[in-house]
Amino acid sequence: MTYQVSHYINGQIVEDKSKAQAIYNPATGNVIGQVALANSTVVDKAVAAAKSAFPSWAATTPSRRARIMFQFKNLLEKNTDELAKLVTQEHGKTLNDARGSVQRGIDVVEFVCGMPYLLKGSYAEDVATDVDSYSIRQPLGVCVGITPFNFPVMIPLWMFAMAIACGNTFVLKPSEKDPSCSILLAELAREAGLPEGVLNVVQGDKEAVDALLIHPDVQAISFVGSTPIAESIYKTGTQQGKRVQAFGGAKNHCIVMPDADMDQAVDALIGAAYGSAGERCMAISVAVAVTDSVGDVLVKKMQSRIEKLKIGPGLSADIEMGPLVTQQHWERVKSYIDLGVTEGASLVVDGRGFKPKDHSSGFFMGGSLFDHVTASMRIYREEIFGPVLCVVRVPDFESALKLVNDHPYGNGTAIFTHDGYTARTFASKVQVGMIGINIPIPVPVAYQTFGGWKKSIFGDIPMHGSDGMHFYTKIKTITQRWPKDKKSAAEFVIPTMK
Ligand code: NAD
Repeated sequence: MTYQVSHYINGQIVEDKSKAQAIYNPATGNVIGQVALANSTVVDKAVAAAKSAFPSWAATTPSRRARIMFQFKNLLEKNTDELAKLVTQEHGKTLNDARGSVQRGIDVVEFVCGMPYLLKGSYAEDVATDVDSYSIRQPLGVCVGITPFNFPVMIPLWMFAMAIACGNTFVLKPSEKDPSCSILLAELAREAGLPEGVLNVVQGDKEAVDALLIHPDVQAISFVGSTPIAESIYKTGTQQGKRVQAFGGAKNHCIVMPDADMDQAVDALIGAAYGSAGERCMAISVAVAVTDSVGDVLVKKMQSRIEKLKIGPGLSADIEMGPLVTQQHWERVKSYIDLGVTEGASLVVDGRGFKPKDHSSGFFMGGSLFDHVTASMRIYREEIFGPVLCVVRVPDFESALKLVNDHPYGNGTAIFTHDGYTARTFASKVQVGMIGINIPIPVPVAYQTFGGWKKSIFGDIPMHGSDGMHFYTKIKTITQRWPKDKKSAAEFVIPTMK
């Protein structure tokens, strides 16, 4: 039995048989459903619903909005298992990992329950005689979120929970590869008391995204996905006069210094490179061994760990790594491993031929490890987004730092060392947005902000934390005087706040 996933507009599922795409279970390779792909008529409907819901939602008090978010948080907690199962079923990652990602999304909902405090603005008394001035933040209107396949619960929650708590209405366009979670999220938000039209979901591909990008009633766009698409979304969206934050891909380096605890570094690298089959924007995909002797030990220890990875369907117990998301993505990752061999890197562990027993038609790949990778190779410069770790050997810390800083991506990075001065210098000088010191995946918590640098971000404002609130609101500053007497005189010079 296969299922249909369609749009959610104005508090209702909207069936759409015009265009559809298959949904796969990556662990079996079977088609398990069909997702509708919206055209511009459907997009118009969703934006119209969000536009008409905006005035009353913006006028709803921040406390009332926060209470609905609190109910939503409770419902998300109650439904964590169901959400996590849907993530695993359509994405492939292990159930525990899926649960963790749902929790990281709930953390953002928890944070936005405090939105009344964040929105309360500032007040300055007596900026001039009898004149006061204050700033308030107001919502933008209809906001759009376009999300990638790798976090089908967490990333939509980064966006719409924040936008809605600020008083905006929202149209979510989730990834067509794992669309089911978006509908459950919208239904839970409705159950929590969110009025119709405040949160809408359009399923779709480029056609839906293009229609959203040029829609005159859309005020702001949040995008997370690959760099070429992020860059083009940013260009088109800003040309259309919209506020845009567009997050792109990554190539995250982990520097291993000679004084690091090797076992800790190897544990960290195994999880950060192969967890979620490397399909994380904060995955470590490059290990930088500082000195050859570090490289030798690291590669030897990593090799034996990679060969023992427990790979299988994400719903099975004790699995460490699931399949890749689609056969197409499998082919892409395999083509990069082929390329690495052609480019002359040493393929120490080759995951291309791996198939688990009983799941030979799933999109499984074993972990792969390249040694002696150089900065000019494409397997080093480009994002692979699979279970492939490249080891680059450098002679000293300065070369390691330069390597990271010369790379076009700047999402996350980590250093393993016992030397405080080296760690501090790294954190201060590295041109990357999120840094881990003896922490392999430094994903900031909900009350901090998440965002990379360089080709990993287009636009200035990162997601969640107070920056998320800034993105989804505009500031208004009011200067007021309530004169005691009626005397007044025209002033022709700029007020200087005497
Ligand atoms: P993707 O760029 O293929 O798709 C992302 C979204 O854009 C999807 O909703 C998709 O439907 C839409 N899309 C795809 N092609 C489009 C086109 N030509 N025009 C308009 N819209 C289009 O990304 P993905 O494969 O779903 O996700 C993986 C990528 O996301 C990786 O590059 C990963 O690094 C990145 N990512 C980045 C972050 C971050 O915070 N920087 C977080 C998660 C994922």
